[in-house]
Amino acid sequence: MDKSRITLPPETVAVKIEADICVVGGSCTGVFAALRAARLGAKVVLLEKSNRLGGVATLGLVGMWHSLFDITRQQQIIGGLTFETLERLEKTGACTTFRKPTDYYGIRLNSEELTLELDAMVTAEKNITLYLQTSFSQAVMAGPGQVEAIVADDKSGRFAIRARVFIDASGDGVLARGAGLAMRRPEHPQPPTSCARFSGWSFPDGFNLRQCMDKYREELPDLPGGYFWGMPIPNSQLYMLAGTRVLQCDCNDADEITRAEITSRRQIKAILDMLRREFPDRPICLEALPSAIGIREGLHIESAGTLTGEELLAGRRFPDAIGNGTYPVDIHNDTDATITFKSLDGTVRVNKADQRIHSGRWLPEGQVLPFYQMPLSCLIPRGAVNVLAAGRMLDADRDAFGAVRVMVNLNQCGEAAGVAAWQAVQSGGGISRIDSAETRRLLQAGGSIIM
Ligand SMILES: Cc1cc2nc3c(=O)[nH]c(=O)nc-3n(C[C@H](O)[C@H](O)[C@H](O)COP(=O)(O)OP(=O)(O)OC[C@H]3O[C@@H](n4cnc5c(N)ncnc54)[C@H](O)[C@@H]3O)c2cc1C
Repeated sequence: MDKSRITLPPETVAVKIEADICVVGGSCTGVFAALRAARLGAKVVLLEKSNRLGGVATLGLVGMWHSLFDITRQQQIIGGLTFETLERLEKTGACTTFRKPTDYYGIRLNSEELTLELDAMVTAEKNITLYLQTSFSQAVMAGPGQVEAIVADDKSGRFAIRARVFIDASGDGVLARGAGLAMRRPEHPQPPTSCARFSGWSFPDGFNLRQCMDKYREELPDLPGGYFWGMPIPNSQLYMLAGTRVLQCDCNDADEITRAEITSRRQIKAILDMLRREFPDRPICLEALPSAIGIREGLHIESAGTLTGEELLAGRRFPDAIGNGTYPVDIHNDTDATITFKSLDGTVRVNKADQRIHSGRWLPEGQVLPFYQMPLSCLIPRGAVNVLAAGRMLDADRDAFGAVRVMVNLNQCGEAAGVAAWQAVQSGGGISRIDSAETRRLLQAGGSIIM
């Protein structure tokens, strides 16, 4: 008998619910997919393994969205549910300004209040059934690329959800993987980071966090290297620091993610110890750790057409474009402390920690790229009959992913997946036959800016 394996008994589980569309994962990507489909009339089930919606924006404490305007500040290029959510947050001062082209440098959000708004948006929609603390565990296949049902685990046990179309918005691509769809792991995925929230984050003029880390590095070897950023949180006295990084981590591997959680928290502890030693009289407190380490990159689906950095940075206008963006190609390297930014103003710079080690231009002097586009095709897994993928597992090469991976972009992908899934439900055809002109029309009619 092979003692290294256990055979599970065959199992029958109840079908708890049948829906038109089932969305796995409740970040803004998944929530926006569910909302757009539900508003078109679809019966939608949305499941999320944690206790709240929002993904990295809430669980990971990352409360920063990027500009809704093009780089020349001439026109708004992002609307839809991103805009609608910001309008809700704005009412209580839970986000910074976003309406004017001059609001270019990023929109800070209060992650906790985002959680509350997402709760309200989803529960107000009668066509959505929400299951929190419910984890996807298995795809039940009707044929190659065709999911008949999924099996999920919740507090009460295991159950099945049957749907006509499924959207994988899990970030990790758990459904696409479970359905046996082709996926690839990048050779150098961008490293994960645990953010943290602090109170008392106030230092004397001239204080430099990086130099302080360098001063204490021997004494506190867990201090992180590399780029960091942070922000004061709107409607709060707290400060969020994205200061850790775990290099060469396969975030789809269970042992690796355990290592990453522990390592990044050690780095946060070292930052706290350092600040307490440097400023013994200041009340610097650690107020919150993320519920899950922030994963920048894991597996990608293989789609009919990989979005490439070349076409993105050429400003290619796709016939099936479902969204627009301006965030730079921002690559956190996973082998050293460098980070590369290729901005749409034509500049390229490489930083090592906070030192600039290279700067130049990738566009001729005087030229800029106002914005780039994202096509629907990179959300359609190759060989899938009724599965769409939205979020960071979309099909993009290293450069293109470096740009599209931020939330204002993935939010738009979520909305597009929701609309496209509804079209597939209505037509009864597979997702490969979705009429993208109609997707664009429906997106625009629902408030998206389609160009
Ligand atoms: C440290 C850090 C800083 C960043 N900074 C910024 C920034 O400033 N601005 C910006 O816009 N972007 C930023 N990004 C990138 C951005 O946050 C992510 O790319 C984006 O949030 C990914 O969205 P997603 O929907 O694909 O995945 P996620 O946000 O990871 O959401 C996936 C959701 O699926 C759920 N899920 C997973 N598995 C299951 C399962 N089995 N069953 C049910 N549910 C499941 C998860 O719990 C989660 O809620 C940052 C990323 C990191 C890590």
